[in-house]
Amino acid sequence: MSATTIFALETTSGNTLHIEDVNTKQRGKYSCIDCGKELYAVIGEARKKEPHFRHGDGVNCSGIGDRALHNFAVQILMDYSSLTVSKDLILNYTQPRKEVGFLDFRSDVAINYTGEIIHTEVFVTHDLTLEKISAYENNNIKCVRIDLSNPELLNAKKEKIIDEVLNRWENKTLIGWQTKMVPALTTMEADKNIKVIEHAQWTFEEVIIGFVKAIVVFAIAVVSFYLLERFLSFLFRPRYKKA
Ligand SMILES: [Zn+2]
Repeated sequence: MSATTIFALETTSGNTLHIEDVNTKQRGKYSCIDCGKELYAVIGEARKKEPHFRHGDGVNCSGIGDRALHNFAVQILMDYSSLTVSKDLILNYTQPRKEVGFLDFRSDVAINYTGEIIHTEVFVTHDLTLEKISAYENNNIKCVRIDLSNPELLNAKKEKIIDEVLNRWENKTLIGWQTKMVPALTTMEADKNIKVIEHAQWTFEEVIIGFVKAIVVFAIAVVSFYLLERFLSFLFRPRYKKA
């Protein structure tokens, strides 16, 4: 029994197709993204089954379609130009390109948005490693993680998959969008620097305020001393006048 799938590689174009992309009148050559063997599109009104691709007789394919869904999502990102990443942020992007390198890593699709490069990562079964997440965060490199791990998507309608990839924001995670300070200085060095900066930043106004404060403290001290002197002389004043 060979597995059926809704995705296939179109051998002539190299594109990942959904079964709904297959034109009944003009069929191409298709191959399986998992095992590489030829696939046949099963479509048309004569068939009662949902349209799908099937392997040739006797082919045993163990693929579950997760790689195909991943590749199809990448294809969607390449073909469109609008990505909703949060409740109130839609990236109208340009120049999508696959497998763009950054540091020691590669993202699925990099896009340009308002002069910035933003990386996208499609998660079906292989999530980002902690090392990759740290690389994004520690270097303030922006990434949008698109969660397509819902197994229903392995057999979903094309429209549904496009909606999950581009329009739904609840399955998106923004990584590296918070500006993170790179700890370039040790704590002691940083402390020293802060003290130097504090001294350098004394303004004329601050000097005057400091001077006035000193005068007020001095005046309070003088008045207190005077009052204490009066109090003591009251206590020890002569009780009786000399006759
Ligand atoms: Zn296969």
